[in-house]
Amino acid sequence: MALTGMQIYKQLPRTNCKKCGFPTCMAFAMQVAAKQKAIADCPDISDEATSTLSEESSPPMRLVKLGSGTAVFETGQETVMCRHEEKFHRKCGIAIKLSSDLSDDDFIKGLEEINSRKYVRVGKEIKVELCAVEIDGVNNPSERAAIAAEKSEVPLILVGENPDAMKSAALAVKHSKPLIYRATEENLDAFIAIAKEYKLPLAISAPTLEELADFTVKAKEVGLDELLLSWKGGADPGDFVRFSTQVRRSALLHKFRPFGYPIITEFECDSQESETVLLSTAAAKYAGIVLMKGREPWALMPNLTIIQDVFTDPQVPNTVEAKLYEIGNPDENSPVFYTTNFSLTYFSVAGEVERSKIPAYISVVDTEGLGVLNSWAGDKISAEKVIQALKDQNVAEKVNHRKLIIPGLLPVFRAEIEDQSEWKEVIIGPETAKEIPSFMNKIWGK
Ligand code: SF4
Repeated sequence: MALTGMQIYKQLPRTNCKKCGFPTCMAFAMQVAAKQKAIADCPDISDEATSTLSEESSPPMRLVKLGSGTAVFETGQETVMCRHEEKFHRKCGIAIKLSSDLSDDDFIKGLEEINSRKYVRVGKEIKVELCAVEIDGVNNPSERAAIAAEKSEVPLILVGENPDAMKSAALAVKHSKPLIYRATEENLDAFIAIAKEYKLPLAISAPTLEELADFTVKAKEVGLDELLLSWKGGADPGDFVRFSTQVRRSALLHKFRPFGYPIITEFECDSQESETVLLSTAAAKYAGIVLMKGREPWALMPNLTIIQDVFTDPQVPNTVEAKLYEIGNPDENSPVFYTTNFSLTYFSVAGEVERSKIPAYISVVDTEGLGVLNSWAGDKISAEKVIQALKDQNVAEKVNHRKLIIPGLLPVFRAEIEDQSEWKEVIIGPETAKEIPSFMNKIWGK
């Protein structure tokens, strides 16, 4: 049975020295109980307490950190099979793979493209997290790795199976803590030796699950613990899901330590379209890192979007602050909208208002994080509530007109708002945010 925070606390030095990064021993104990910290993160714990606690208290899945300085990516230390049981702690990272047949100029262009693949969606940055550099087959592996380390703004993965090429590339960029990808049954001993010598994380693959367990045990025995389980296969997503589910179940539900590591995966595909679809399955079903050859925005966006959705914390309401927002530099003649405080609704409306290039005010009403129709169905919005929000946010002082644009999905408040407030010209807006630019240009552009 899992240890409670109090059982762990009793074994700690209880000096509240903060060396673990937490203000008190109790705070640290609670994190260990939640499987978010390892008992070894307390530097002052006694050997006796360590042996008493470590097996029971250590997270069932290892945390693996790639990169250094400001370019760091963390994966692993997950605690649940399904998001609704708690949450997924670390989002899946997309790594773009730059193949060895690229010329130096095209390679540098690829690195620059990877650095630029950043977008804002629902108010949050989504981006390519890693750069995978193929080194088998390049003339000078160490030089190619060094160029990547110098120019990449994201952590590196060194891709290859040749021990000589991997050793020279790893030596050249060990300071940036790349992942060595990947050990196979043919090169296992050599790759374990490279990872151990340069203190780097290692991805391990094997023909069967049984052999994979043997290989990770072998790596652990020589002191390697920052491991990833590698799966590489054809175009059948079912093969991956069977692998990832068995591995995750073994680690989390049965505490099978040889599988207590995050997963890295790639698919052999004949088109970018197939790759995008297959990787979305992997991203949603337990992959910690997915390798992608396509780097066009259209190929990336579906997976970045899926990752953002799957790894959003379901326990935290997806809300924005209920207040008056200014889009562009609105003045006293600018239009006024109202909408709900569900993030997706707000950012959709705000983004489309921005796209219309007509500065505007958006009054956000607190609907406890529900969208327009849900808030109405759940009795979280009413004409009175909208009128009160406009009053509380002093919207009338900002403009010299009394026109209010309301969501087209909820036209029923029109008469009530006009009757009961100073907003005497209520305009029913479009039903979907994407129609806002044409609507704005029609009714306000002139
Ligand atoms: S480092 Fe150890 S002794 Fe110090 S506060 Fe953290 S848990 Fe307590």
